[in-house]
Amino acid sequence: MSRSVDLFVIGGGSGGVRAARIAAGHGAKVMLAEEYRLGGTCVIRGCVPKKLFVYAGRYAHDLEDMAGYGWTVENARFDWPTLIARKDAEIGRLEGIYRRNLAAPGVEIVDERAVIEGPNTVRLVGSGEVIEARYILIAVGAHPALGPAIPGCELAITSNEAFHLPQLPRRIIVQGGGYIAVEFACLFRALGCEVSLVLRADQILRGFDEDVRTLVAAEMRHAGIDILTGRTLTGIAKAEGGKRVSLSDGSELVVEEVMLAIGRLPNTQKLGLDTVGVALDKSGAVIVDAQGQTNVPSIYAVGDVTNRINLTPVAIREGHAFADTVFGNKPWTVDHSTVATAVFTEPEVGTVGLSEQAARDAGHQVDIYKAQFRPMRATLSGRETKMLVKLVVDAVSDKVLGCHVVGESAGEIIQMAAIAIGMGATKADFDRTVAVHPTAAEELVTLR
Ligand code: NDP
Repeated sequence: MSRSVDLFVIGGGSGGVRAARIAAGHGAKVMLAEEYRLGGTCVIRGCVPKKLFVYAGRYAHDLEDMAGYGWTVENARFDWPTLIARKDAEIGRLEGIYRRNLAAPGVEIVDERAVIEGPNTVRLVGSGEVIEARYILIAVGAHPALGPAIPGCELAITSNEAFHLPQLPRRIIVQGGGYIAVEFACLFRALGCEVSLVLRADQILRGFDEDVRTLVAAEMRHAGIDILTGRTLTGIAKAEGGKRVSLSDGSELVVEEVMLAIGRLPNTQKLGLDTVGVALDKSGAVIVDAQGQTNVPSIYAVGDVTNRINLTPVAIREGHAFADTVFGNKPWTVDHSTVATAVFTEPEVGTVGLSEQAARDAGHQVDIYKAQFRPMRATLSGRETKMLVKLVVDAVSDKVLGCHVVGESAGEIIQMAAIAIGMGATKADFDRTVAVHPTAAEELVTLR
């Protein structure tokens, strides 16, 4: 006789783990299958290791900036294998915490792949065991897109491999203009690589506020990143000392490494979704309603596999809402409308709400308040850098529709601004707030 559970979660990333823990806390019998490592993209090959790399790169800037403050540091050297080993140890530690956090409320972890065989049936691929489940949650995330096949594309890496390179490439091409491409371009540059960023559009970070895009691109260029717009990679071949890369403008570059960061695709292949009739959109993402329910009533999905807002905290929320709704008798849905986000470029971006263009496109009459200035820290360091704060305000209601920050700690600043904006703060509310001085964030309450 097959075993049965209340909830079978496929995928041990941010969304799946949260859903499993909360459902188990509500008394459900929960089983979770993960074929690779617990923690998912965020912990294993995304946000966490990326931020550790970003920190590593920032020390290089600090070393440059220190002289202006009177410090002399001699013989500073960077060792990539040390960073990789320390990062791997930290990821291992976090994975252990995930495992313990699941075990504590009684979730049974299955370290193998699971596929769906029916609306209430899952098969474990390794052991062949069939599990009956009252509900199935698909939380399998996404993987890097490789784009249209070009000659030699198998020679390129993605962010997955970038976290495990045996040595730091002296010269790298990154393709793409989204979050992953710009973050990796910046961190590789900070660590001393020569970086070319190749993107098909005419500007990085599509969808972000134009002032943000312009400033970040200018700062990246100033840092020495060669941003090549309006171009794509057309071929990669092995060459003496590395790889020869052909671009659509007919030019060629020889580099040590080529990284593709051209979006991510939902992991919906070979999961049994076609057998059971779960509807997918044209990007291959699982279609769900506000509760995360698919067209098959016993099957739900959360996180990147649904391709809504592909951010860890959103997946966590979606997993939590699912578990509370289905097992906790506390139905709620995730508000996807004002999700703040940070891009860990150099300088960093923090943004929440509408860009100026999106606000105009939505029919708002807008007032724009912005300041671009040299951050105080850069005065003595002599670093040529600018910081930006910008508010997009509805001219009729005075409501702040969007807040955009570029500069040191922008991610930290935007987290707080997101509370105010989520509460419907007006420009007058910002103005009423007394500044914290001397900070960069005070500019947000002194914009006139
Ligand atoms: P994005 O969707 O952000 O960006 C994809 C980029 O690839 C765009 O510049 C796009 O160009 C380009 N592109 C797409 N297809 C092609 C192609 N065939 N040829 C050339 N260029 C192409 O994807 P990412 O991979 O950067 O990141 C995936 C998601 O992960 C993000 O959207 C975000 O949700 C999440 N993420 C969040 C982070 C954070 O919170 N800090 C960090 C990293 C990832 P175009 O603009 O012209 O369409």
